[in-house]
Amino acid sequence: MDLDAVGANLARVRRAVGAAAGLVPMVKANAYGLGLEPVVRALARRPAPEGGPWAFGVATVAEGEAVRGAGWAGRVLVFSPCAPGEYERAAAADLTLCVSLLDALQRWAAVAESLGRRLAFHAEVDTGMGRAGFAWQRVGEWGAAVARVGGALRWEGCYTHFHSADEPDLAPTHEQWARFQSVAAALPAAPAAEPRLLHVANSAAALRCAGFGCDLARPGIALYGGLAGPGAAAEPVVALRARLVLVREVDAGSTVGYGATYRARRRERWGTVGIGYGDGLRRALAAGGEALVGGRRVPIVGRISMDMTTIDLSDAPGAREGDVVTFIGSDAGDAISLDEVAARCGTISYEVLTGLTARLPRVYRGEAGAPG
Ligand SMILES: *Cc1c(COP(=O)(O)O)cnc(C)c1O
Repeated sequence: MDLDAVGANLARVRRAVGAAAGLVPMVKANAYGLGLEPVVRALARRPAPEGGPWAFGVATVAEGEAVRGAGWAGRVLVFSPCAPGEYERAAAADLTLCVSLLDALQRWAAVAESLGRRLAFHAEVDTGMGRAGFAWQRVGEWGAAVARVGGALRWEGCYTHFHSADEPDLAPTHEQWARFQSVAAALPAAPAAEPRLLHVANSAAALRCAGFGCDLARPGIALYGGLAGPGAAAEPVVALRARLVLVREVDAGSTVGYGATYRARRRERWGTVGIGYGDGLRRALAAGGEALVGGRRVPIVGRISMDMTTIDLSDAPGAREGDVVTFIGSDAGDAISLDEVAARCGTISYEVLTGLTARLPRVYRGEAGAPG
């Protein structure tokens, strides 16, 4: 996990959205599997002009508490609707809630009243994502009600989330943007001293549409090395490596793995690698999947098991037990990208990263970690 590359990717988002926008790095799901604490610590110490955060973004109250545990005292935005029992905890950790319902706003206001504190919230607008948010078409109904119920709170922001900003065709994104603008124009005016911050951009919209010039941007996947749509490549961050634990020659006709789905076509040299789907190396990768050993690409053979994966080393005669095998990342001039692995598995980079399990040791390089 290259924390310097995470920082460089955040700086790239900074350049795309301009110096005026606040950055809200998304560190939900354990910072997309990288490890919440090291990522928060690495980004928190960056100065704002280079991409230092205005806030951190998480999905749940528990994740917000983890950001506090990592030592960040600034804003933390909780983006998923929170469960009824969690409002007090959210207030105790000084989190900022995102709300999609008047009920939720009333709960948050009640906690604020009981504590005698003005708590902050951001209102989500549903412009087509459909999973949360006030309906964009009905701003006439909810806009005034949110301003009224939220009167005892601090209505700090208003945002929407794009469903297709990473697709080649940006027309649906521009349509969502137009809907959001119509909502922003129809909302009751914010007090002059407390302008309401508008934000829409995930990584793709930040890098491809300059964040639409909004007050804040909320990058996630681009920080962690995933491709955020055509032309929105990021610096690689994550490498997935394990060691050869066994190397041997097998006779033609030998079978390997559950279901014996692969059979040696000749005398072959197989290597067993100490990693499996129990570490997050997805079973779907076995079909056509490759690894790098000593700079050579070799095929995965048979099914990936929970703890072990077999590769055919017949074309890498120098490979020995103890050698490092790379499933994601570079090795002597060749590289297997995160998105290449995701595509082979029929999924997206997000799922590959968040699927890396707790058993897999994370080794950090750069800012907050030891030199790698
Ligand atoms: C996860 C998330 C993001 C980040 O999206 P990426 O595609 O990873 O950049 C931004 N905003 C919200 C509300 C999110 O839930």
